Amino acid sequence: MTPRLEAVQGDITAETVDAIVNAANSSLARGGGVCGAIFQGAGPALDDACRAIGSCETGDAKATPAFGLPTGHVIHAVGPMWNGGDAGEPDLLAAAYRRSLEVADEIEARSVAFPAISTGIYGYPLDDATEIAVRAVRAADTKVELVRFVCFDSKTLAAYRRVLDS
Ligand code: ADP
Repeated sequence: MTPRLEAVQGDITAETVDAIVNAANSSLARGGGVCGAIFQGAGPALDDACRAIGSCETGDAKATPAFGLPTGHVIHAVGPMWNGGDAGEPDLLAAAYRRSLEVADEIEARSVAFPAISTGIYGYPLDDATEIAVRAVRAADTKVELVRFVCFDSKTLAAYRRVLDS
């Protein structure tokens, strides 16, 4: 099935969906941006859980409990760093979304919130990243019923609205 898609503006750490996705780095370490906010909200148990997993390749995703956050799980998805676009970035970004939904199915999450993976510190151009995100989720065959794109700023929300309405 294809999930219902929606875009909202907000802070993903406040989401009460079954799972939130972290824009993680491949060493699954506490970072900046949305990753920093998720680790802050979850508390030190998340550092331990990520250390126990070890690492995650770009384009892949791994789940942990959410500890102090109001959601049930955190799916740590590693998007690509933007490097001009000829280093496989589009496929790797699509894979990060696709793998996140596969992991969501494994942990039986039916509602999942995504941040705009790779569009912050990793520098992926917003409009291109948004199209890839929406296309990857629409193409997924998943038991997830709701995908909520949680946009931190109005520019990101506008990009998602444009793509979702087209
Ligand atoms: P990346 O390293 O993958 O680019 P970032 O965390 O730097 O990850 O940025 C990804 C997106 O997450 C950006 O649009 C950024 O504005 C957004 N973001 C930052 N903090 C939050 C938050 N608390 N909730 C939702 N999105 C956030």
